[in-house]
Amino acid sequence: MRRSRRISFDAVSMLLVAISVHSHVVAFTGVRAMKRGDLVKHTGRPEWGAGVVVDCTGDKCTIHFEEKGRLVLQVTAATPHLAAVTRAEVAADSALLDPQRWDSIVLPTEQRVAKKAKGKETTTTPCIACKRPLNRSQYSEDKKLKSCPRCSSKDGREHVFYDYPDAFGQTDARVSEATPDGAQSYCGQCRTNDEPYRGSRRCSSIAPR
Ligand SMILES: [Zn+2]
Ligand SMILES: [Zn+2]
Repeated sequence: MRRSRRISFDAVSMLLVAISVHSHVVAFTGVRAMKRGDLVKHTGRPEWGAGVVVDCTGDKCTIHFEEKGRLVLQVTAATPHLAAVTRAEVAADSALLDPQRWDSIVLPTEQRVAKKAKGKETTTTPCIACKRPLNRSQYSEDKKLKSCPRCSSKDGREHVFYDYPDAFGQTDARVSEATPDGAQSYCGQCRTNDEPYRGSRRCSSIAPR
C-alpha cells in the first residue's frame, strides 16, 4: 500500500514538471488564488499586455492591464484565461512593479495619451530639417530610428527620433504597418509616464532619408 502511494505521488510530480516545461505559462487555478501584486496576463487578450492584481474582494479582482487599464474581473470566470507573468517578463521600470504607480495605469493607453495630449495637440508644423509635418512618424533609412509625433510636436522645430522598435514597445511594433500614425506610434515615454526622454536624436542629426 505504502509503496503504491509513493509511486502515484511521483507520477503526479512528473506530470506537473511536464506541464510546466511544455506550456511555459502556468494557469492560475482555484488552488492558487490571486493576490495583490501578482502579475498576470489574459491568454485570450494578448493586446491587453501584462496586468497587476491590485485588489481581490470575494469573487472579484481588480486588475490594471498595461494596455487596457483597470478591469474588475470575476475570478471564477476569468481564472481559466489568466496566466502568471514573472517579473522578468516585464520591463524593469514598468509601473506594474511599483504599487505607487499602479494608479497611472487605470486608463487604456489611448485614453492616457489623449488625456495627456489634451491642450497640447500634435501639430502639422513642418520640421525645419526635413520639411515633413512634425505629427507624422518618420523613419531613418535603416528603419532603426522612428520619430514620435508627440515628442516632435512638443519640440516644435524638428522630428525627435528614438530607437525603433525598442523605444516604442511591442504593441507599436505589431500595429505600426497598419496604423502608422495612430496613438500607438507614440514613444513609450509618451504612452506610459512622464519620465524624461532618453536617447533622443533630432532630425537634423540624422543622415538624409
Ligand atoms: Zn524632420
Ligand atoms: Zn514621445
